[in-house]
Amino acid sequence: MSKTLLIKNARMLVTMDDERREIADGAVFIRDNVIEQVGASADLPQQADEVIDATNHVVMPGLINTHHHMYQSLTRVIPAAQNGELFNWLTNLYPIWANLTPEMVHVSTLTAMSELILSGCTTSSDHLYIYPNGCKLDDSIEAAGKIGMRFHAARGSMSVGQSKGGLPPDRVVEEEGAILKDTQRLIETYHDAGRHAMQRVVVAPCSPFSVSRDLMKESAAMARAFGVSLHTHLAENANDIAYSREKFNMTPAEYAEDCGWVGHDVWHAHCVQLDDDGIYMFARTGTGIAHCPCSNMRLASGIAPIRKMLDADVSVGLGVDGSASNDAGHMMGEVRQAMLLQRVGYGPDAMTARQALEVATLGGAKVLNRDDIGALKPGMSADIVMFKLDGIGFAGALHDPVAALVFCTPPNVSYSIINGKVVVRDGRICSIDLPVVIESHNALAHQLALATGA
Ligand SMILES: [Zn+2]
Repeated sequence: MSKTLLIKNARMLVTMDDERREIADGAVFIRDNVIEQVGASADLPQQADEVIDATNHVVMPGLINTHHHMYQSLTRVIPAAQNGELFNWLTNLYPIWANLTPEMVHVSTLTAMSELILSGCTTSSDHLYIYPNGCKLDDSIEAAGKIGMRFHAARGSMSVGQSKGGLPPDRVVEEEGAILKDTQRLIETYHDAGRHAMQRVVVAPCSPFSVSRDLMKESAAMARAFGVSLHTHLAENANDIAYSREKFNMTPAEYAEDCGWVGHDVWHAHCVQLDDDGIYMFARTGTGIAHCPCSNMRLASGIAPIRKMLDADVSVGLGVDGSASNDAGHMMGEVRQAMLLQRVGYGPDAMTARQALEVATLGGAKVLNRDDIGALKPGMSADIVMFKLDGIGFAGALHDPVAALVFCTPPNVSYSIINGKVVVRDGRICSIDLPVVIESHNALAHQLALATGA
């Protein structure tokens, strides 16, 4: 038996369809996990197994987070890492992360996903690249299943420790053969290539300064053999460029191309310092970018040339990045910062509110190589969020409620539907006991800091 769900009477329904329609008094009719009809409330079926009244709400496609390190929610605002740039920040945090446990990965993933979901996100990637003390990517994947989030789990890795000229300490790196073997196991166990998939696996060595050229190339070969995507960090700041020049005698973009890391199945985080040749090469090859404005500001990495990338037709999605360099995981907050930061760099018309929302929906879908999420139209996955407009944050802004979502104080959702299931109802997550998770998360964060003397 199929189950139907009707969302109706939306003050404004943002479709992100081909015409970018915004429908006043809009409605969405869902059957099981797929959108069947979108239109004016009067034109859609009036009955369904469940009906949600969206009066005084903006209804829109769920936001898509393309870059995160969820375990870092345990190491927010660590005093020694509050004020450094990327390499200094990493060097202070690696010893703490070396004490991670499987329980910490599981609980921090639930915490990070809760924060994302409450802020409007329905699909997230997570880049887990450190596996001490028996931690596995399975710990994150199980958490995603429990909470009900659409998940692209990226099997990160580090293999070049300090003794070989890399940045991470030797005790947190893995042997390359073991990395590839575990990556293949994860793809074979969890990857769902089908439409409306809730679970995909991504091959994701951490960065050019923490893995070898061999691992980059072998990862690309494995990803292509299994038809999965590739993800890493690239061209994040000036030190990152200097390392690439010194070690490889190439720009990061040239190195990526040399390793086979370009194409519609590849997306790179940050690219703050991507040069013009890199931008055009990314556009030509369909290579995607995860833009992380808060992290770029926090670590003073610079302003990514997103306006220029969009004009060149590069695929750009949005990412909150790990919570040790943000230190928030609020997706609508990130949309706001994306809009504001482009304006700081490139002028007041560099990015509109609607363009920022498009990056966070359609842009993210493209970067994750999906055509079934990011818009509300028939045949798409039923990932839908609802923002209520009667709060103090929107007072005086209701002449343009869609732009208000981005310009005003970042709101939390009142409802979130993921793959046709109501995951947030009346502002509360239904699938887990959030206060219990937060308490456990705080205890584990305390334990982690104590173990390291941070
Ligand atoms: Zn990152």
